[in-house]
Amino acid sequence: MADEQKLKRIACEVIDEFSPQLKILSRDIWNHPELCYEEKYAHQRITGFLQERGFHVERSYKLDTAFRAQPEGGSGSGGPNVAVLCEYDALPEIGHACGHNLIATVGVAASLGIQAALQSPDFQGKGRLTVVGTPAEEAGGGKIDLINSGAFADVDVAMMAHPALFNLEKPHALAMTEIKISYHGKASHASSYPWNGVNALDAAVQCYTNISHLRQQMKPTWRTHGVITNGGAKPNIIPELAELLYYIRAPTDTELAVLKEKVIGCMEGAATATGCKVSYEFDPKPYSSLVSSDVMAALYVDNGREVGIRPERDPERVRKAGGSTDMGNVSHLVPSIHPNFYIGTTASPHSRDFAQQTKTEEAENYSLAVAKALAMTGIDLLLKPQLVQQARHSLREALDAEKAAA
Ligand SMILES: [Zn+2]
Ligand SMILES: [Zn+2]
Repeated sequence: MADEQKLKRIACEVIDEFSPQLKILSRDIWNHPELCYEEKYAHQRITGFLQERGFHVERSYKLDTAFRAQPEGGSGSGGPNVAVLCEYDALPEIGHACGHNLIATVGVAASLGIQAALQSPDFQGKGRLTVVGTPAEEAGGGKIDLINSGAFADVDVAMMAHPALFNLEKPHALAMTEIKISYHGKASHASSYPWNGVNALDAAVQCYTNISHLRQQMKPTWRTHGVITNGGAKPNIIPELAELLYYIRAPTDTELAVLKEKVIGCMEGAATATGCKVSYEFDPKPYSSLVSSDVMAALYVDNGREVGIRPERDPERVRKAGGSTDMGNVSHLVPSIHPNFYIGTTASPHSRDFAQQTKTEEAENYSLAVAKALAMTGIDLLLKPQLVQQARHSLREALDAEKAAA
């Protein structure tokens, strides 16, 4: 048997061996849903799990609830550094409705598999494994904080997987930014002296309408969605302050910049029409589009077939839209994959039904198969560093193509 096949088999066997404990890990995180940057339980539980199984762990690495872990003893210097990422934050009120408990479990399981391969006498290559605990994906952008603090400086490739309605090696995730918009007017008695007031709520409504009208001229893949977060205090006071919160998204960072300019026009037009002053703040940490590595995705699909993962090919489902993820920012930095995987439900993420499914053994079994596919992909990259070079080259080309296509 070729070394490659032998090492992959070792990785899969280790994941099978640890599967009962991995399922308990997933269930424990599910039972302790924590919001972004507050993932204290998950941080302790995952780092403890890795430490007990031979990982050198750096807790609170760069952020309170982030971590970094590497197999004890390592495997010497040189060779690619393969990073496996774990997310573990939950959503307000509906808990693990995005299934980040499964993401953490996939990351830990894949890491145990790669660790076993690296430590096998049959591993003749050079390379390293780094597990990165990345908090605050649902809000905040923990991975962007980690990038900014240099946590990915020595990483060559990054991988993780996200539960979804189907298996897809290169899902679409849009570039996104948040905008906080405030209109400032002047208060006055709304019945006695309305002409002395300047109505900030009117400006907010106008802004909302302008952006809604813009929608007809937007590309079908662009998204704008907003709410009025402050519309005044009482009907008999002309509102002096009104506020909105918007998310705007597009398939590439360059297209998002175009959409941003159009939305600025909508916001300023509403101020002019109503005589209000407008101030707006864009998120200082926007999420970039997800640029999945072709090279890594192809390896993932081949390895996935070995463990029964069939990629979705229905064009209706594989459409060019979706949510957004801070993995996008990582994917602009180093070749990355963020495959979606089926967990046995047709309910959409961020729903209560999806949350129920993420604590089932069925979902856990799908997750462990995905962990095997990721581990085998990691082994391919460690054994053939030329693939990492290829992936780097094709990432540069993909980013250039994004810019050129805007
Ligand atoms: Zn989510
Ligand atoms: Zn998610």
